[in-house]
Amino acid sequence: MPVFRFAPSPNGYLHLGHAYSALFTEHWARRLGGDFLLRLEDTDPTRCKPEFAEAILEDLRWLGLAWPEPVMMQSGRLAVYAQYAERLREMGLLYPCFCSRSEIAEAATGTDPDGAPLYGGTCRHLSAETIARRLARGDPVQYRLDGARAIARAGVLTFTVAQPTPLDRPQIRYARPALWGDVVIQRKETPTSYHLSVVVDDAAQAITHVTRGRDMEPSTDIHVLLQILLGLPSPAYTFHKLILDEGGRKLSKSKGAPTLRNLREEGWSAADVRTRAGF
Ligand code: GLU
Repeated sequence: MPVFRFAPSPNGYLHLGHAYSALFTEHWARRLGGDFLLRLEDTDPTRCKPEFAEAILEDLRWLGLAWPEPVMMQSGRLAVYAQYAERLREMGLLYPCFCSRSEIAEAATGTDPDGAPLYGGTCRHLSAETIARRLARGDPVQYRLDGARAIARAGVLTFTVAQPTPLDRPQIRYARPALWGDVVIQRKETPTSYHLSVVVDDAAQAITHVTRGRDMEPSTDIHVLLQILLGLPSPAYTFHKLILDEGGRKLSKSKGAPTLRNLREEGWSAADVRTRAGF
């Protein structure tokens, strides 16, 4: 049976872009007679807040969406992600990185597909003594995937991209995770990262169709790599259009896009939001 999910991060209030993504996902789940699941991706303790999680549930209910309970909360699954990270470590694919943000920026060898500094590999070949000394000293540490080794081990990476309708011809794409360099698998403040948690949970929830915005197309290449390394199934992916503001820019929390709550206060009904999103 098809299983879809909407997986927002509770680090702010939902805006029209999120509403579009949630409605798109639910629409296709219903059309295919599948399940629509909700998952809160709240692993980042510095940005995620329980009040945003509450607000997300309330806004989605207001929009008329429903999902099976309990909602999966990633913050309750840190031990599971740590076990998966351990598997990568046992394969010799993780290494500790002690670099600060500014050190990463200074040694960057370009930018990754998200426009962030591409890690220059400063800590890739630290000696065992240096690692032991810095860990014993309690230096903040994150763990990175050795991208080149991981890709060599995984071999050719392909995945399926399709509109969710069964009539659409699926395309087989090659993943190009090398563009990301050595991504962080375990962050300094939590034993996981977005990339690790998302692939572990898409498998745990038996997701068959991942529907996400086009802006997340490049990160899918890392997800496919992790799925192969960890022996997890790869769902089909659909990259939907983004809702743009008047200036043609993607709506974003940081650029002050009006939230669903703002719109509600201005008198928008849930039906108005659905119409604006095209559902
Ligand atoms: N949690 C991610 C976000 O809010 C999206 C999840 C995904 O589709 O992988 O940006």
